Amino acid sequence: MDLNKVARQHLEMEGFFAGFAVRGRTAIPAVECQPDAESPAANPQSAADAAKELGAVAAEVGQCRRCELGSLRKNPVPGEGHPRARIMFVGEAPGADEDAQGRPFVGRAGQLLDKIIAACGLRRDEVFIGNILKCRPPENRDPRPDEIINCLPYLQRQIEAINPDILVALGGHAAKTLLNTVKPIGQLRGQFQEYYSGIGRPPIKLMATFHPAYLLRNYSEQNRRYVWEDMKKVLTELGLPVPERSKG
Ligand code: URA
Repeated sequence: MDLNKVARQHLEMEGFFAGFAVRGRTAIPAVECQPDAESPAANPQSAADAAKELGAVAAEVGQCRRCELGSLRKNPVPGEGHPRARIMFVGEAPGADEDAQGRPFVGRAGQLLDKIIAACGLRRDEVFIGNILKCRPPENRDPRPDEIINCLPYLQRQIEAINPDILVALGGHAAKTLLNTVKPIGQLRGQFQEYYSGIGRPPIKLMATFHPAYLLRNYSEQNRRYVWEDMKKVLTELGLPVPERSKG
């Protein structure tokens, strides 16, 4: 690994996603978020039922052996966040750091996701962060179709419990799985798509955007700008203040 490159990326990314000031909203102190705490990023209904269902899903994931990943993992990574989040991020699958900690997006890609969330004027505990797969594929290989089919019901239950206003699909695997399409991420991102959770249920708006790990690998101002454009659309759709870039 080229450490100079990593350090430069880190500093530039810090600059790009940290250079925003949120208009009309003072910083929220970093306190533990109670499920029912008033937050412009959370749906107002009681969070208790959602939290219960999310707990049940996490417990089942913890016992799951539907595919071989269940016996290869160190820890399951069911996902975490506000049970009634208005924004739910969906990534691909846990990596080594997530597998070690049992928490989603805690490695390098996760640090970048944290910056994107903060650039949106939000806290990590105001959104929900999950994945298509709940266990780490060996060597971080792509999820296999049979693994996705086995694991998807957990994510579907999480989406149903949280009932977010907007899903943000991080990367091609999440976007293609949730939208049931083979279109590439470059064609899916940038405009709202619709996620259908079942017959008779209204679709949930979905914004696909580049995966933070892709951003780290394909590091350009243009790609970062694409992600920021996508997130600005999400904030506008939710009626949340759109931070302005104050530098960079
Ligand atoms: N990449 C993902 O898609 N999910 C994680 O949880 C971490 C990295």
